[in-house]
Amino acid sequence: MFDYKAPDNSLANRTIVVTGAGAGIGRAAAKNYAALGATVVLLGRTEEKLESIYDEIIDQGSPTPAIYPFDLSRAKEEDYTEMATILEAEFGKLDGLLHNASLLGERTPLSQYEARTWRHVMHVNVNAGFIMTQALLPLLEASEDASIIFTSSSVGTQGKAYWGAYSVSKFATEGMAQIFAAELENISNIRVNTINPGPTRTNMRAKAYPGEDPAINLAPEEIMPVYQYLMGPDSKGVTGQRFDAQALGGPQG
Ligand code: NAP
Repeated sequence: MFDYKAPDNSLANRTIVVTGAGAGIGRAAAKNYAALGATVVLLGRTEEKLESIYDEIIDQGSPTPAIYPFDLSRAKEEDYTEMATILEAEFGKLDGLLHNASLLGERTPLSQYEARTWRHVMHVNVNAGFIMTQALLPLLEASEDASIIFTSSSVGTQGKAYWGAYSVSKFATEGMAQIFAAELENISNIRVNTINPGPTRTNMRAKAYPGEDPAINLAPEEIMPVYQYLMGPDSKGVTGQRFDAQALGGPQG
């Protein structure tokens, strides 16, 4: 497990967007960032889930979050421009962006993979992250210390049979993060890294491995140290890197 404990209030006065904040890893990250003092923008497609995490964040005494219902499958480019305008009016800057929402798609051989599903998975997992990052860059540039985190997977560096568009989308995510990191290094205060969460007890994991006992995997709350590290000031200057949430290791500087 990545060995890091964030100092209390280390995300105070920071505004952080978390995509897919209603469930699984995104939900844990949103709650975690709020507990460290951040104002979290809860972005997701199911409003009731966002409302329930909103309530939990208020109950834990953290800064009031914002709910941003947004369907990455359906959103048009102008919706991302509108998002940037609204966030700028509300917060003036953005200090963090966690790209967490993803679709699993089908677990089937490429020879039988449906083109429609392929396009959908690539759109949500890759295109949406690109368009959102591009739209929000001016707001991230307005921060003194901004962090973008993309979410990868072990099949984002090693192709595995039957992982189809999901695996290819994660390879693309790794590449996109490296390019953003290289282009933003030295000309901005924005760092860009990827996290591979590793096997984690969520709906997506259960769908990918229906026969598996969920208890053998860590809960999302248990893999949060690397999410804290990369979002907070202790990772300033760390960019273009790939982190495994469940591998042994610790901060680098
Ligand atoms: P999850 O439980 O399925 O949660 C995914 C989240 O993304 C949900 O909140 C979901 O919203 C949201 N989402 C999906 N499609 C969306 C769309 N079109 N628009 C907006 N939001 C959308 O998955 P997870 O396991 O927490 O996965 C989080 C990230 O970790 C993903 O990038 C995944 O690829 C990666 N990952 C997970 C594991 C693992 O073992 N769990 C391993 C490696 C990588 P709804 O709840 O409304 O559907």
